[in-house]
Amino acid sequence: AKRGGRNAYELFSPSMSRSVLEEAQQRVDMERGLEQKQFIVLYQPVVDMETERVTGVEALVRWHHPEDGLLSPNQFIANAEANGLIVPLGRWVLREACEQLARWRRETPDAAGLVMNVNLSARQFQYAGLVDDVAAALRDAGIPAGSLTLEITESMLMVDIDGAIETLGALRGLGVRLAIDDFGTGYSSLNYLKQLPVDIIKIDRTFVEQVDTDAEDVALIDAVVNLGQALRLQTVAEGIETDGQWAMLREIGCDQGQGYLFGRPGDAASVTGLLARGTGT
Ligand code: C2E
Ligand code: CA
Ligand code: CA
Ligand code: CA
Repeated sequence: AKRGGRNAYELFSPSMSRSVLEEAQQRVDMERGLEQKQFIVLYQPVVDMETERVTGVEALVRWHHPEDGLLSPNQFIANAEANGLIVPLGRWVLREACEQLARWRRETPDAAGLVMNVNLSARQFQYAGLVDDVAAALRDAGIPAGSLTLEITESMLMVDIDGAIETLGALRGLGVRLAIDDFGTGYSSLNYLKQLPVDIIKIDRTFVEQVDTDAEDVALIDAVVNLGQALRLQTVAEGIETDGQWAMLREIGCDQGQGYLFGRPGDAASVTGLLARGTGT
């Protein structure tokens, strides 16, 4: 009886019921936000480490909340993941990003080889309709599959490794490319990495932060870049903010980079300018 009483207390504790209410409220807000087009996608350039030419962009979602202002993903993605709305939201981001790439390809010859990177959440990755959604987004936008890269994290893969390999294989069968995001922060073993049909490793920002001052971080990134080369995977360093970090990563031989040094996430127009600058002709 004492136990039951305790649970009952916990179930109705003021702080918990408030957060449950808040989450329920956000779900309602989010559904309305999707209907009323309150979400926007920003684009951050990904550049070639040697030439600084823009090779791609990463689509990053934001929410223009009518009362709370502009929300960043860490203020709503986890909740969307928990309440399931991440599936329609993620599908919208994917379609929007593909359409934007199509627009760039129509408007400027500089965008011919440009790659669009889109983040997938765990729940989207497990959703049975994912491969069809991706195929439809590519077809409706009229962009080549090879110009789309889907980013997934190690933890998403480790839940069910065989299922993950199957899904990755089906996505790759469409012709899209696959990247492991936040590499180094999860638990993937080298053995799995070899089995996974992926093309790109994105090295997490936490390793990049002190790469110009910390010899251990240099050694770690060097090891990852060598691993990438051995497995024929491209390497992308995330969160590059300084010339010092850039110089060190270039020396290590990292293929591509992303970070405030090259450009913050911005609207499509901000990238259009970078594309023209980046032709190098
Ligand atoms: P992420 O996929 O690792 O994306 C990179 C994050 O690092 C972005 O934060 C970006 O703005 C930030 N960033 C880029 N360069 C730098 C830098 O030089 N320094 C620092 N300090 N930060 C930098 P953002 O846009 O707030 O997104 C956070 C996370 O939210 C993303 O991390 C991703 O996991 C998730 N996310 C964003 N958009 C989507 C989406 O459409 N779907 C899903 N499922 N997740 C998304
Ligand atoms: Ca990402
Ligand atoms: Ca990342
Ligand atoms: Ca190289």
